[in-house]
Amino acid sequence: MPATSDRILGFGESVIRRMTRIANEYGAINLSQGFPDYDPPPQLIAAGVAAMQNGPHQYAVTWGAPDFRQALARKQSRFMGLDLDPERHLVVTCGSTEAMIAAMLTVCNPGEKVVVFSPFYENYGADAILSGAEPIFVPLRPPHFEFDLTELEAAFAQGPKAIILCNPSNPCGKVFSETELLTIARLAQAHDTFVITDEVYEHIVYAPHRHCYLAALPGMFERTISCSSLSKTYSITGWRLGYAIAAPAVIDGIKKVHDFLTVGAAAPLQAAALAGLALPDGYYTELAQGYTHKRALFLRWLERAGLTYFPPQGAYYVLVDIAPVVGESGIDDHAFCDWLARRVGVAAVPGSSFFREPVHHYIRFHFAKQDATLNAAGERLLELRRLWQADQKS
Ligand code: GLN
Repeated sequence: MPATSDRILGFGESVIRRMTRIANEYGAINLSQGFPDYDPPPQLIAAGVAAMQNGPHQYAVTWGAPDFRQALARKQSRFMGLDLDPERHLVVTCGSTEAMIAAMLTVCNPGEKVVVFSPFYENYGADAILSGAEPIFVPLRPPHFEFDLTELEAAFAQGPKAIILCNPSNPCGKVFSETELLTIARLAQAHDTFVITDEVYEHIVYAPHRHCYLAALPGMFERTISCSSLSKTYSITGWRLGYAIAAPAVIDGIKKVHDFLTVGAAAPLQAAALAGLALPDGYYTELAQGYTHKRALFLRWLERAGLTYFPPQGAYYVLVDIAPVVGESGIDDHAFCDWLARRVGVAAVPGSSFFREPVHHYIRFHFAKQDATLNAAGERLLELRRLWQADQKS
């Protein structure tokens, strides 16, 4: 059999999706892969049924059905404070995942450098490999996950083509402040660098933090590619509807890459998702309130279980420090997550899959689950320390 490409040797299986498999194997409550266990708003489901009955069933315009792009441009213009033209500033993609890789392939030549904050969402490593870009990692250090200006300046001094910014951040829940974004914007302008944002958690932010769109900062629209999706905002991660917003010259490139990668996002689902884009602003306030409640509920369980965590400012993940639990046992985060799923019945993601630095004592939970699911997981987590000690003795 001929050899497969060297490219695919660069990355392994997604650790996040591996944990979902392990959760299923042990029947554990799955707080690893971040997706809700509740339904999208009923308007979307009704519109989905109607789209199946009435169509469209054939290809939409490759860069997005015109009415979907118009509704999306209206909604994003309102939230981003920009005047977006649905014809020139937008491409609809199969999730933000496709928007990100299409953006990377559009702006980066093989061998060019890309700044990535660590911890980072695991796809960015794969995006760099697929596009041939070389990542320069800049640490966000716990407990507040701030960057060191000198380190960021040193990264920019290497002449990167782009910087990837996940805001609010998966996995650490950091919401970049306006001051931090202005610093990034200043460096991007000084070094003529693109900024590729992943803003899928734009509507999941906890007060007093607020989401600032980098593309809306003075002079930044022309060098920012804002990637996001409808997945988390409307609880439709399986619909795979995402988009990139950028200046026309960049959008023209992304359109071509997207066309050859996937042709287009599902036409009936674009039609159905219009019902989400038509929801009043109160929907987004309630979404944030709902997650504020879930965050408080789950963090309270972590406290009761005696676990140390970093409170997230946005998104629906929380990093837990397992060092106080495992002590000197030499158990790393992977072994711990396997044990946790098998013995405690709760699945988490080993934190090392998000860090460039060799840290093996964090795990990531997500809390986009029904209260009943979070409470059931919480009850199990109360047993964690007792079970750990019992297993250490035996
Ligand atoms: N974004 C989600 C997470 O971080 C889902 C990841 C995935 O499977 N694509 O868990």
